[in-house]
Amino acid sequence: MPAIDVHVHPGTRGLDLDAYSYFRRDLKELPRSEEDFASLFVQQDVKALLIAWHPSTAAGEPRVTNEYALELATKHPAAFAGVLASLEMQREDPEARIRQAAELLKNPKVKGFKFHPPDQAFCPSDRKYYGLWELLAGSQSPVMFHTGFTVLGANSDGGKGIALDHGRPIHLDTLARDFPRMKIIAAHPGWPWCEELMGVATHKRNVYVDTSGYLAEHLPEIFQKAIQGRLQDKALFGTDFPYVSVEKALRSLEAVGFKDVVKEKILYSNAQALFGL
Ligand SMILES: [Zn+2]
Repeated sequence: MPAIDVHVHPGTRGLDLDAYSYFRRDLKELPRSEEDFASLFVQQDVKALLIAWHPSTAAGEPRVTNEYALELATKHPAAFAGVLASLEMQREDPEARIRQAAELLKNPKVKGFKFHPPDQAFCPSDRKYYGLWELLAGSQSPVMFHTGFTVLGANSDGGKGIALDHGRPIHLDTLARDFPRMKIIAAHPGWPWCEELMGVATHKRNVYVDTSGYLAEHLPEIFQKAIQGRLQDKALFGTDFPYVSVEKALRSLEAVGFKDVVKEKILYSNAQALFGL
């Protein structure tokens, strides 16, 4: 079955080695050349959306920039359906950030935006970002937010300064209320606030979820149930590659025994409709 993976980090740059080992992944399995990275997705019949965000914890690596992700998507259209762009959230001038977003929206390869509130140290419902959300809501481009626990800074003193609170799903509830036209994707099941996320996604029609960071059999039970039931039209297949293997994620989704019609929606048609692919 063809698939769209809405949550792919270019493994070729910006790799957080601590996170990579947290997922018990073997570096030898990781395609580090752009050609190998692209052909892995082509072989699996998966079109990926590339996340153009660089984790603060991968300081020594060449940066994953919007330009870099866009270049990959342009060179390998069979593998990559487009880019989820990122923006600098700590810059002083909010107008400059809005201009940058408007500029990115003109690029047809930009299919949406991705934010990581814990790592980017901002709260999505902070009013100081409302000008930006207004633009993105009006653009109809989906906006993805990391939710829940993050492996970045995990098991280090002070969590490397990263606050989990910014990743709480309830902040997206506020955003979804204030911007009812904004298409919001909560990335990951939001653990340890999975129930909170299920409440938000069930209540707000404009909040979607993705399966990334987990093999299907390891997804919290409440999440597994919801995406086969009430949320089946709003759940998107995502891996969090390279932290989770795309082959294993596909096999695992096959193995959990979801109905074919549900599987097809999660793997393909929900993302196709949401991103207009
Ligand atoms: Zn991710």
